[in-house]
Amino acid sequence: MRLRIKKNDTVRVISGRDKGKQGKVTQVFPTQGLVVAEGINLRVKHLRAQKGSKTGSKVQYAAPLIIAKLAVVCPQCGKTTRVRITQAPDGKKIRTCHRCTQPLNI
Ligand SMILES: [Zn+2]
Repeated sequence: MRLRIKKNDTVRVISGRDKGKQGKVTQVFPTQGLVVAEGINLRVKHLRAQKGSKTGSKVQYAAPLIIAKLAVVCPQCGKTTRVRITQAPDGKKIRTCHRCTQPLNI
């Protein structure tokens, strides 16, 4: 699957538990259509006590979220937008904002 979301994009959650939250994409899994973003879909991992330490610990981490629940936030106009693929004069395909037609960060 070819994704319209890339690393370092800002995305907003549009449905589910984290609806309304916004964060920067840190990891993309194109084959599964999953994305990991800062502060979104946080889970707590409970670690058992290891040898040497008496107590276990909890580690908070961001779990992958399906892209259907995410919308890209345009850095130019600040709104959530659909991504349009357009061809630049040099023939390269670039991603642009559906609303303001400004190119999104590469
Ligand atoms: Zn825009």
